[in-house]
Amino acid sequence: MVRTNSNFSTAETKRIGIFGGTFDPVHLGHIGSAKALLAAQNLDQIYFMPCQQHPHDKRPMANAEQRLAMLNLALQGQSSFHVDDRELARSGKSFTVDSLIDIREEVGEQAVLIFLLGSDAFPEFHRWQRWETIFSLANVAVIERANEKSVHAIEAVELKQKINQAVDFVDAPCGQMTIASLPPYPVSSTLLREQLLQASAISSLLTEFMSPQVLDYIYQQHLYR
Ligand code: ATP
Repeated sequence: MVRTNSNFSTAETKRIGIFGGTFDPVHLGHIGSAKALLAAQNLDQIYFMPCQQHPHDKRPMANAEQRLAMLNLALQGQSSFHVDDRELARSGKSFTVDSLIDIREEVGEQAVLIFLLGSDAFPEFHRWQRWETIFSLANVAVIERANEKSVHAIEAVELKQKINQAVDFVDAPCGQMTIASLPPYPVSSTLLREQLLQASAISSLLTEFMSPQVLDYIYQQHLYR
């Protein structure tokens, strides 16, 4: 169902964030940013949605089952966070638009949906499959990411208009954009994988930015070696 953003939300309306990614592995940059956005946008829940096959052929090192297990370990006991495995259950490329169509069907027309992504991913957003339809299904929150070009410096004309119209607080079911300047987490999965490959002992970077349960799991599974 594709809808317009004419219905504004009420205090009772469900507010749901959706954080798509590879999560190879999940780290504090994901979780800390999600927590801050949960508070800033007064969300009821955030779904962490790992992709099966990245649309741009980014190949994860951990398999789907392992990435899912790490997400479950990292998010256990946090009732505002939910692991959504719908993309892992779907074959072929994981297009966000397909997942948002499903989610919109489940939550109904009034729910406020906010798709989250980092400022490293946003400059290419206008090349995503049916990106304009994404805005008719959900709002978009871009998280300014440490050591990345600011969202405001993006030159793609298609995105500039959205950036210029960005709101501080999202109050429509879909169609709006917000730029979240949250406390930055200078970490990426790439950096952590490199640390795991190089370090003979657990480095402070790993303990600072990963949950102990996820780190234990990585060692048990001999991941990223
Ligand atoms: P990789 O280094 O393998 O590319 P990543 O750390 O960017 O991985 P992904 O799973 O690819 O993690 O990212 C999922 C989403 O989380 C993306 O939208 C990405 O921009 C965002 N993200 C990742 N790390 C951070 C961070 N430190 N702060 C804010 N957003 C982040």
